Amino acid sequence: MTTPSENEPAAPSDFIRDVVAADVKSGKHVEIHTRFPPEPNGYLHIGHAKAICLNFGIAHEFGGVCNVRMDDTNPAKEEVEYVDSILADTKWLINGWADDNLGLKPTGKTPDTELAGEKPDFHLSAIRNPKSEISVEPFHASDYFDQFYEYALQLVRKGKAYVCDMTPEETDEYRRLGKEGPSRNRSIDENLDLLARMKAGEFPDGARTLRAKIDMSAPNIWLRDPVLYRIRHAEHHHTGNKWCIYPMYDFAHTLSDYIEGITHSVCTLEFEVHRPLYDWLLASLDLAHPLPHQYEFARLNITYTVMSKRKLMQLVNDGLVKGWDDPRMPTISGLRRRGMTASSLRSFAYNIGITKYPSMTDVAVLEHTVREELNRTAQRRLAVLHPIKVVITNYPEDRVEELEAVNNPEDPSAGTRKVPFSRELFIENADFMETPPPKYFRLRPGGEVRLKYAYIIKCDEVVKDDASKVIELHCTADLESKSGGSTSNRKVKGTIHWVSAPHAIDAEARLYDRLFTVPEPDADGDFKSFINPNSLEVVTAKCEPSLEGAVPELRYQFERLAYFALDPDSRPGRLVFNRTITLKDTWAKEAKKR
Ligand code: ATP
Ligand code: MG
Repeated sequence: MTTPSENEPAAPSDFIRDVVAADVKSGKHVEIHTRFPPEPNGYLHIGHAKAICLNFGIAHEFGGVCNVRMDDTNPAKEEVEYVDSILADTKWLINGWADDNLGLKPTGKTPDTELAGEKPDFHLSAIRNPKSEISVEPFHASDYFDQFYEYALQLVRKGKAYVCDMTPEETDEYRRLGKEGPSRNRSIDENLDLLARMKAGEFPDGARTLRAKIDMSAPNIWLRDPVLYRIRHAEHHHTGNKWCIYPMYDFAHTLSDYIEGITHSVCTLEFEVHRPLYDWLLASLDLAHPLPHQYEFARLNITYTVMSKRKLMQLVNDGLVKGWDDPRMPTISGLRRRGMTASSLRSFAYNIGITKYPSMTDVAVLEHTVREELNRTAQRRLAVLHPIKVVITNYPEDRVEELEAVNNPEDPSAGTRKVPFSRELFIENADFMETPPPKYFRLRPGGEVRLKYAYIIKCDEVVKDDASKVIELHCTADLESKSGGSTSNRKVKGTIHWVSAPHAIDAEARLYDRLFTVPEPDADGDFKSFINPNSLEVVTAKCEPSLEGAVPELRYQFERLAYFALDPDSRPGRLVFNRTITLKDTWAKEAKKR
């Protein structure tokens, strides 16, 4: 046994955590407050998992708070289905965090919002109390629409915002050219009147906007009088028909951070150029200090997949996958359905680190992390995916032995189970070859192999059908050679797995592979033309009978094959297993061959 401290890596360190540590040390902030602000216009993907682990990780390590905020300011693209999936996925990802060996320790603080009877705010209660489920009550940017409007009025009164009559196209063109538009110097009273009428619904979509009055000749285009509000007569999934003007991202996001008391607003690098606008908005309004500050890190990109909600949505809408939670998708719900655990995704997010340089992470890194965990935790089971029948001709027809099999060689506490052995078995098609290449140590005509947990068998006869297809192997067992027995210590080079034919239960096995055939499918051309035609093979597996009791919480290693998890499509008597990941990286070999 190792002590926990030997096992525990130090909490991660990176340039953002360094800033937070310095701010804590200098006393700039009393409590660290981060947020994860997804727009509910799609399902979360593993890139979001990185952002969740970073924001919740920082809050946790510094004894602070992390909010989940729906960045729901665009009624056209957002739906309740997405809100619900975002909450479910976030909750799944962070529950049980304190059980990880990631250097995270419960802070022992009581979630004070709960005590005060306020809306629970993701106060890391699950991390502080690993046994409790998190109550997920997200914040909504749309709850601040009234406040946003007040701030907009304040900017207008200060002469820092104006109502502009140009069309969206004209606005873009003028901003590109750095040219001032005709409405820029309207009087404050006229602006107040027009803004009130915009809000009252007097104008059609696109007729007018509210724009910040900053600097049309600024080198940074985001400072060239960006649009703060636009007219959109649309029903919003959270506020209904109350509003017909909606705030733009920068305005809403900056002020949401302020309203929630965010101290460190962490986002991806694309927003670095927005930071001057973020700071301008905070400086232009009369706001209490300390103000939030924005920091940027490089987004996660992974090989052999695409990682933007827009592209993932195309895969779903074009029927190239079966839904957002298809196990081939890089979505959190897809990875979960595939059998990847929350803890392995968290380890992955921690291990890849946080930098300021855009890069591409090899999907093999994720797969390695998952394999490593499942090797430690998965229950071993015998199953045959592509069966071929074996008859042990010298084994009595009515005899059944219950052989002892180890549940997990990496974890003695997982114990053992009984597996039935009989005269008729299934072995894996690939474990027999009639004319094998050199160094093939599995079964061949006249050759010997050990059946795991059982006997050494010898192949005496190959039975074929009319089309010369091998349908059955007739073998004899060395009945003195039972594994763990005392009568023989004879050794053979190969060991293969098997399932007793009369006891086997059928299960649908969905054998998933990478969704794309090339490392960077969206580097050039249409990413959809690089879909891997073999990303899913469905077979009927022959399984040892104990798999009847398989549960969704556990992971299974089908010995010598791969790790599997039960799919939600399973019904009593109709098991469905998803291949989470093969035991070895088969793609590394392919890459070498090329
Ligand atoms: P996408 O481009 O995939 O549609 P997005 O950035 O529009 O994603 P949001 O819902 O706005 O998605 O993202 C919520 C948070 O997650 C943001 O703070 C964003 O910076 C972060 N995030 C999104 N994608 C990644 C990624 N690939 N790696 C790390 N963080 C990400
Ligand atoms: Mg976005």
